[in-house]
Amino acid sequence: MDAGGYDVIVVGAGNAALCSAITASQKGKKVLVLEKAPENQRGGNSKFTRNFRIAHGEGWNGFKQEYSRDEFLTDIKKVTRGESNSELTGYVVDHSSEAVDWASSHGVRWQKALKSTLHLDRTNLFILGGGKALLNTYFQYLGKYDNCRIVYDSELVRLNVENNTFQSLTARIQGHEVEIKGDSVILGSGGFESNLNILREAWGDAIDNFIIRGTSHNTGTPMMEMIRHGAASVGEKNDGHMVGVDARSPKYDGGIVTRVDSVIFSIVVNKFARRFFDEGYDIWPKRYAISGKLIAQQPDQIAFSIFDRKSWGLFMPPLYPPIVENSLEVMADKLGLNPDELRKTVSEYNAACPEISHFDFSNPDGNGTKNIDPAKSNWARRIDEPPFYAYPLRPGLTFTYFGLKVDNHSRVIDQAGKPFNNIWAAGEIMAGNILNGGYLGGLGMTIGTLFGINAGEEALS
Ligand SMILES: Cc1cc2nc3c(=O)[nH]c(=O)nc-3n(C[C@H](O)[C@H](O)[C@H](O)COP(=O)(O)OP(=O)(O)OC[C@H]3O[C@@H](n4cnc5c(N)ncnc54)[C@H](O)[C@@H]3O)c2cc1C
Repeated sequence: MDAGGYDVIVVGAGNAALCSAITASQKGKKVLVLEKAPENQRGGNSKFTRNFRIAHGEGWNGFKQEYSRDEFLTDIKKVTRGESNSELTGYVVDHSSEAVDWASSHGVRWQKALKSTLHLDRTNLFILGGGKALLNTYFQYLGKYDNCRIVYDSELVRLNVENNTFQSLTARIQGHEVEIKGDSVILGSGGFESNLNILREAWGDAIDNFIIRGTSHNTGTPMMEMIRHGAASVGEKNDGHMVGVDARSPKYDGGIVTRVDSVIFSIVVNKFARRFFDEGYDIWPKRYAISGKLIAQQPDQIAFSIFDRKSWGLFMPPLYPPIVENSLEVMADKLGLNPDELRKTVSEYNAACPEISHFDFSNPDGNGTKNIDPAKSNWARRIDEPPFYAYPLRPGLTFTYFGLKVDNHSRVIDQAGKPFNNIWAAGEIMAGNILNGGYLGGLGMTIGTLFGINAGEEALS
């Protein structure tokens, strides 16, 4: 392993890091990409993605309807309680279509959205073949550059920074520690959602019942190293994007297919067979990104989505099959719930459901319960026609919002408000500057691409 002389060291090999590495390599600089994962697990959380969110006019890339700058900004404000950095947020929205243009010009292809419960076909452009295809395209593209070297199984364990200037880093490469020098470093190493030790500080032992939807490699060392060197942070450590996922999913790497979309057409009960939130509050964006958090607050972090024959087929089926029974009592037994309690909960809910003349599965339909707490605001239909269906749910952590403060050149900012001289950050590691405490589907890839390109360009000047 060559221990020095790199113009740019890029840490990570997900979307943001590869955008930086490509940009720097195109300029003829000597680039080293350090990827913690072995080659067959490369690509971080980016490999699980499906789409980019972009502002666009009617007709752009085949969109039938406009998604305006103002609507995009309003959507971000809605999910983030207005706490985002407005300069960076405006930058991302105004340049969002450039992220897609850049990806297209580097070989990425797109497809029409399929119909699903998340309703992204007007706002998001879908990657043909998903994030894995996008990354493979970028890896192949990088392969053309002799001046860029990718080293797998290489974890950054220490950053050496003096007077706000990056000097070198220590990487554990296939088990051996090596010090590597470079003129600049770009951190594209994601959040810390796979680091159970840090998560335990915030969530306690409940974390043992969480499922991490993405890679096991995003443990946050580069981010924490920068904080040790005085970088300013954004967001809260105990905050993250969490959805309800199938409780039978693996601890890591389950990806998109473990998400359970039946929630809005069902009742969700805890281990005492009691409902605990308004399952039909909204489809998008409010409910989707917080259902996991509500399950995380329940005893033993377990819940069950229960519905009947009428709702089967209304949502995209997840990887695991539902549990199907002809009686609620047998279902309760199967799920480890008290049958009397479940029967009572379903009866009370059924009695609160309205007479339904119009049921719209694709929009909030106003069919709300009456005189029951918690209410169900939409899609409140009686659960009374067997067979009955259930999915067991756990909180599925997608990513953490806590990150490094950056400016709109992707430079990492210190606690005195000054940029570090030669240290940049792109992607999930800094997305909290924009998505402070909330999430809007597809924005992670748009942010990573734009700030990844910026970092790659800036690191050379
Ligand atoms: C299931 C799922 C579906 C998603 N779907 C979408 C979607 O459709 N659209 C969207 O915009 N967003 C989506 N997201 C969010 C999206 O994945 C992230 O916003 C985006 O991928 C972040 O990209 P990144 O390059 O910053 O990080 P990542 O792609 O996670 O890459 C980080 C890289 O850093 C490496 N690394 C970590 N620590 C070290 C270290 N110490 N040393 C060396 N390397 C290190 C990792 O191995 C990894 O390769 C989804 C996330 C998940 C989990």
